[in-house]
Amino acid sequence: MCTEKTPWEQVIDFHGHTCPGIALGYRVAVIAQKELGLRPTPDSELLVKASTHSCALDALQIINKATVGRGALIIEETHEHIYQFYFTGTQAILKITLDPSLIDQLASIKQLNLNPREKQNKNLEAIQQILSLEETDFCTIEQVPGELTKIG
Ligand SMILES: [Zn+2]
Repeated sequence: MCTEKTPWEQVIDFHGHTCPGIALGYRVAVIAQKELGLRPTPDSELLVKASTHSCALDALQIINKATVGRGALIIEETHEHIYQFYFTGTQAILKITLDPSLIDQLASIKQLNLNPREKQNKNLEAIQQILSLEETDFCTIEQVPGELTKIG
């Protein structure tokens, strides 16, 4: 029997490994899809601006279809987990800011001196935690006035 891959499985396939970063991106992407609702007009395009380069970005390319090739994924490095979503032709940006304490916690795992097996277990725990957190404990969601510009 042929079973469709879940969106999470599609993201992992594309990304090439399972990690806390891609779990973060997946949650951001799914929350954004829900908050954005339908495309305002057929020719409107979704642009995404990320404030840090990380594994998370690959989830935005799969779930939100904001691909690097089309210039729809804009990266402006400020080392903050802030993601902005914008439909072209509108004047509103959906801004998702990840809880800084969650990011600090994930960064602290990287600094532990663990063997590969322990590291894998810690990562799996972190992924479980990220995927099951309440939205309000995971991020702040805001609507801000503004526009994003496509690259190129
Ligand atoms: Zn990764």
